[in-house]
Amino acid sequence: MLAVHLENGVISVREVPRPARPEGFALLRLLAGGICNTDLELQRGYYGFAGTPGHEFVAEVAEADSPGLIGKRVAGEINLACTQCDWCRRGLGRHCPNRTVLGIVRHPGAFEEFFTLPERNLHVLDDDLPLERAVFLEPLAAASEILDQVSIPAGERVAVLGDGKLGLLIAMLLQAHGYRVHQFGRHAGKLAIAARAGVAVESAGASLPVAEYDWVVDATGSPEGLRAAAAMARPRGTVILKSTVHGAVGVDTAPIIVNEITLVGSRCGRFEAALPWIGHPAIRLEEMLSDCYRLADAPAAFARAAERGVLKVMLK
Ligand SMILES: [Zn+2]
Ligand SMILES: [Zn+2]
Repeated sequence: MLAVHLENGVISVREVPRPARPEGFALLRLLAGGICNTDLELQRGYYGFAGTPGHEFVAEVAEADSPGLIGKRVAGEINLACTQCDWCRRGLGRHCPNRTVLGIVRHPGAFEEFFTLPERNLHVLDDDLPLERAVFLEPLAAASEILDQVSIPAGERVAVLGDGKLGLLIAMLLQAHGYRVHQFGRHAGKLAIAARAGVAVESAGASLPVAEYDWVVDATGSPEGLRAAAAMARPRGTVILKSTVHGAVGVDTAPIIVNEITLVGSRCGRFEAALPWIGHPAIRLEEMLSDCYRLADAPAAFARAAERGVLKVMLK
């Protein structure tokens, strides 16, 4: 079978044996994969990763212990938790210190014809959900994580900084939840997607408002984002940090302390929270799909995903 291989920054496609299925695991046949910024960071060498990448996927169950799963179309949680530790017992397997992570930490990823995941990680998808939407379930869960962490009163104004893939998903999801979202970005074409979803957008050049919002999400992906977001928050406001920045971020903590700003770090989230929204027409996922490649053309797909202005690139 074909498998994408990443080593020393180079993406290649190899012929490898089909993986064996451990007990409790399902053997999954890839239908669609999404390339995300984390994959591009793995390629840039941030985590010393070598192997098969890929953690955003839709697959068909080829083999499983549970007969009811076979033939079903599924997406899956990417953290393989130990199920035994304190965190796992509290339902927080995403923080399990013993976890491996699909296509990121010590578990081969989804960008290959067949791969394995524990059955308990899988979520069966509706038959009428198009692949082009379903492939966004993992990043939409990451966007939903915000609402698992903070309870924002109904109808509140929320500022979202950044108009990359995650910024767009966050803005459209919060807008669909009934919040009044103001999104600040740099790319007119990307902001236009959110604008069509009803989000109030402000493009580059517009200077950012100061002390205006009780809720600010930083999804800029840049070291500058935290400072900018904290400056936009009102006293006693909350800043949700969705940018994973590599290396130290220089930030003046005095305004954060003086204004008693709450900082909330936020990573990936529960698929259950995102599933009711994955088919919602107000979240314009199709418009976020820039391109689609065959698995065998993964090197070209990764190059395309790294181009400026490109949103989601899908592998089929
Ligand atoms: Zn991702
Ligand atoms: Zn655990």
